[in-house]
Amino acid sequence: MQRRSLLKALALLPALPLLGNAPLSLAQAIASSITPLDKPHDAWRKLLPPEAYAVLFEEDTEAPRSSPLNQEKRDGTFVCAACYLPLFASQDKYESGTGWPSFTKPIDGHMNTKRDFKLFFPRTEYHCARCGGHQGHVFDDGPKPRGERWCNNGVALRFIPEGEPLPELRS
Ligand SMILES: [Zn+2]
Repeated sequence: MQRRSLLKALALLPALPLLGNAPLSLAQAIASSITPLDKPHDAWRKLLPPEAYAVLFEEDTEAPRSSPLNQEKRDGTFVCAACYLPLFASQDKYESGTGWPSFTKPIDGHMNTKRDFKLFFPRTEYHCARCGGHQGHVFDDGPKPRGERWCNNGVALRFIPEGEPLPELRS
């Protein structure tokens, strides 16, 4: 009897890692049309300021209220600070009071998510679909109707005001 329940439990094991990797329903990754870049981290290290590199490729978090983008209220586009892929539109930015630039949603298909167990509770980490650079974490306490808060490191973004051309994607 005991042996049978052990076998039953073992049969369930392959399903467990799948559960662990499942993104929160609120952050279901949309099938991305972006071709991922295959660029070694060392190459990005040479192109980026150290504090941007630490966030984008070592999953560091900037200090709250440290980014000038917290105050950015103009119309425009927020692009990835590494590869320049557009990630957020200014109309989706809002003041969350957290001290980090916050958005209700990213540009469709331009962000991928994964579960992150760095803190005691699992969070959903998200990153640029093109270069894989870490941007921030998504939470479910955002404004209605979507209820999402995309909490972003300002140093991982670059703001391009409306009227200025978007930079050419960096390879
Ligand atoms: Zn990128």
